[in-house]
Amino acid sequence: MDSTNAYDVIVVGGGVIGCAVARELAPDHDVLVLEAGSAGGEASPKASGLMAIVADLPEYPAAARHALEFFKSYDGTGQFEFTSRSAIHLVTAEEESWGREHAATKAAQGFDVTYLTAAEIENRYPGALVLDQFVGGVEFSQSGWLDPYTYTMTLKSEAEDEGVRYETGTEVTDIVIEDGSVTGVRVEGATIAADHVVCATGWRTRELLSEFVEVPVRPFRWQTVNLEVGREFGEEFPICWDRQSRMYWRPEHNGDLHVGGGTYFVEDSGDVRSTITESFRNAVATTIGERVQNIEDARFKSEDCCPTGDAATPDDHPIIDAPDGAPDGLVVAITGPVGGIMCSPFVSTAVRSIVTEETAPFPVEPFSLDRFEDLSAEFECDYVTGLQAPQR
Ligand SMILES: Cc1cc2nc3c(=O)[nH]c(=O)nc-3n(C[C@H](O)[C@H](O)[C@H](O)COP(=O)(O)OP(=O)(O)OC[C@H]3O[C@@H](n4cnc5c(N)ncnc54)[C@H](O)[C@@H]3O)c2cc1C
Repeated sequence: MDSTNAYDVIVVGGGVIGCAVARELAPDHDVLVLEAGSAGGEASPKASGLMAIVADLPEYPAAARHALEFFKSYDGTGQFEFTSRSAIHLVTAEEESWGREHAATKAAQGFDVTYLTAAEIENRYPGALVLDQFVGGVEFSQSGWLDPYTYTMTLKSEAEDEGVRYETGTEVTDIVIEDGSVTGVRVEGATIAADHVVCATGWRTRELLSEFVEVPVRPFRWQTVNLEVGREFGEEFPICWDRQSRMYWRPEHNGDLHVGGGTYFVEDSGDVRSTITESFRNAVATTIGERVQNIEDARFKSEDCCPTGDAATPDDHPIIDAPDGAPDGLVVAITGPVGGIMCSPFVSTAVRSIVTEETAPFPVEPFSLDRFEDLSAEFECDYVTGLQAPQR
């Protein structure tokens, strides 16, 4: 490890957020990314890659629009491919008024969102879904998915082309402060100097920064399975989200059905896991055939989850801030449970605006830490544990 260089910015964490931040800053900053594990991050490579609900960030339509536009324009960069596909949030009779209102609100914000009745869904997506339990759905036409590992590696490779250095297998043990300002980080007994330190460290941010600032974040797990099915999914088969089962699903390019959800808090921080829970396996087995047509012969092919966890925040939204009271030059970049892949374009743009003091193309203040009165990690959030997935 070279401890003599001084950098404009050290990014701690080489997941999708760290890589997106490094790429944004690369053209006009000397940037070093320090990653404790391997390139691509911990939660990031495991993701389903959906950006189905980015348009749902209720208060932040401009940030959501920024993310949507980024993915479309980034399609074709290096190995990165964005699959455009509509997404439907299925709604039950009790949820119908929410669904209609939500679609109208999003449409008024300029998103391509429509409320469809069950008959309209069947008409538009014939042979796709079993709709007995639903009266309709909110359709987002601007959605899609991507392969999160390829995406992260494309961001990394672009950052490296612009001169960013990556050190993997390198844990930052301390942030170094002098006279109230960040001067660098400590790794393996060495100190590396920098004017800014961006913590893209997910749920671990709380512990890393505990001396300087309290960050309300706690780990939770997503779970996914891939099902091998006998049927084919056409080019139109939609991404779906179902609040009743707390599951989402989409086709894979190889013909499998990818199913995710089953979120739960990790009570033992640092616990590492690679298998899904029995309850999620059972939920998939009993539910998915009641949602997707002609998959009676489905069989479990593979499963995955966050090894240690993704970062939950008390209100589900990102924390992107140089917090008041924290040392100058310290920036926090945490996505919250709405999904770091889909949030990465605006998280990284917001971080850039904080570091450079440029104006971001959307309001950054809504992501500041001081929106929380309680900074403890004792919070619950519906997004993770609710009996139903949240109404977004
Ligand atoms: C199964 C699953 C499905 C998902 N589905 C979606 C989806 O469909 N859409 C979506 O948008 N999101 C989804 N997500 C969530 C998304 O993957 C995460 O929100 C996102 O990857 C978080 O990115 P990150 O860079 O903050 O975290 P990570 O990828 O976890 O990266 C943080 C990195 O920081 C490093 N680090 C921590 N502390 C230190 C330290 N002290 N020194 C050095 N390095 C450190 C860690 O090693 C880690 O690599 C899913 C996640 C999973 C697991």
